[in-house]
Amino acid sequence: MAASVLLLPALTPPTYHRIVSPTLHIPTDPQVSVPVGLLACQRDPLLRELATTVVSCTVSQAPAVPSNGRKSKEKTPMPPAETLLEVILHDTVLFPEGGGQPSDVGLLTTSDKRVWKVIEIKRHGGHAVHYVSVPKEDVEAALQAFHSGAEVVASLGEEGYKKRLDHSCMHTSQHLLSAVLETRLKLPTLSWSLSTWPNPAYVEIPRNMTLEEIAFAQEAANGLVFEGRNVHVEVEEFDRDKIIEAKIAEGRGAEKGPPVDYTGGVKRTVIIDGVDRSLCCGTHFPTIHNLQLFIISHLDSVARSSTTSARLYFLAGPRLIEYVMTTHGRLTTAAATLSCGAPLVPERVEQIVEERKRMTKRVDDVEAELAAVIAKQLAAAVTDGQDDGVLHLHRTDDSVNALGFLSSIATALASEIASAPSPPSFLILLSSSPSVQTSTSTNVMMIFGSDEQKVKAVGEGLKGKLAAKGGGKGSRWSGKSSGVWSAARGTVVAGILADIRGQ
Ligand SMILES: [Zn+2]
Repeated sequence: MAASVLLLPALTPPTYHRIVSPTLHIPTDPQVSVPVGLLACQRDPLLRELATTVVSCTVSQAPAVPSNGRKSKEKTPMPPAETLLEVILHDTVLFPEGGGQPSDVGLLTTSDKRVWKVIEIKRHGGHAVHYVSVPKEDVEAALQAFHSGAEVVASLGEEGYKKRLDHSCMHTSQHLLSAVLETRLKLPTLSWSLSTWPNPAYVEIPRNMTLEEIAFAQEAANGLVFEGRNVHVEVEEFDRDKIIEAKIAEGRGAEKGPPVDYTGGVKRTVIIDGVDRSLCCGTHFPTIHNLQLFIISHLDSVARSSTTSARLYFLAGPRLIEYVMTTHGRLTTAAATLSCGAPLVPERVEQIVEERKRMTKRVDDVEAELAAVIAKQLAAAVTDGQDDGVLHLHRTDDSVNALGFLSSIATALASEIASAPSPPSFLILLSSSPSVQTSTSTNVMMIFGSDEQKVKAVGEGLKGKLAAKGGGKGSRWSGKSSGVWSAARGTVVAGILADIRGQ
């Protein structure tokens, strides 16, 4: 018989959510919305769906889902043929953005079995508002289906559940990391950011850390993950004045209190047993065992005008697995390209970079030598009075900087001419095209001469007759044209130079 593993669904223990105030109750009237702080997703972070009731539904007046200060690129895009409905439910398994944790996405199933997409959930005052995306032609039907008192099922769906697991994992990891940094290294967390999937998230701290400190924090965090400390939540009535007085003694975040626009009346503290107490609204895992493993990927310094802080990046759970897989994939690809085993990649890359540096230097040296030889030949032709010193040299060059090489020739030529006993008058046109030419190829040109007027005149001729673009100053002009450098172009150039020669 094949070996099999029985995977039991993870359940949140009944001791996870604790109402520590005797006067605080979860509203049971289906026409009253449960405040943020006591939502089903906050009482049971592993719950995937919930049958509940519609309290209200209106057509959203917002042109797009409010971004709540996030950068516009992170804003939920609104399909043009859709209308947004704002639905408030009695209770929900969908988490509204808060505490640095982004909003969930999910589904609402109405009694007619239609499934509607929730693209974002936001906290308005003390209540969760579901932004439901509805095709414009279905708005009337949707308003009917979401009438006050209607029964609906709110669910995370596959996509929403994956996203939630990741968010919960990273958020719980942040609490753990912040607690370790604060209690063991006296490093308070200034802020944190749950970056978009699959990038590492970070906590911002007031100074850089040494490699030893980073290793220490990572080991301490993983030690606690291995122990699998339990996490639970304590809720009580929220009194803003009391919270502000409580300061840090009540745990991290206590001095700030909930957001100023929060009107839900619930104070919620997330506790990692023996490690951390933190005021937070997030959907934290019931145990830090769920984080699986914890890694600090790197540290970045952040220099501002008056302060210097640092961002410590971290990964855990599904995001860590994705990170390891992606990183491993990149390493394997690089190893195949370099025809070596993965462990040898850094050494091979170092070798190649060194070789490349040497090769670049050699190409520079050879180019300088070649430019000098070409310049000598041109100087000899000019001195001999060949074609009245008006010459054209066309080259084939696949360099990304072919104009740079033409410029080197012109510079070498200038010193050759200057050293002649009686400097002759001359005008040299240098041009260069790639070995394989198409209609989009770029040809580069350089004019160098003793008579600035003639240099300018030839430049104007190239612009007029070859549709070249360019310009110059004094004795030099440079430009480019696109297309194939054909024999016909050579004839046009010869014509332009013949006109100058006659002057
Ligand atoms: Zn938090």
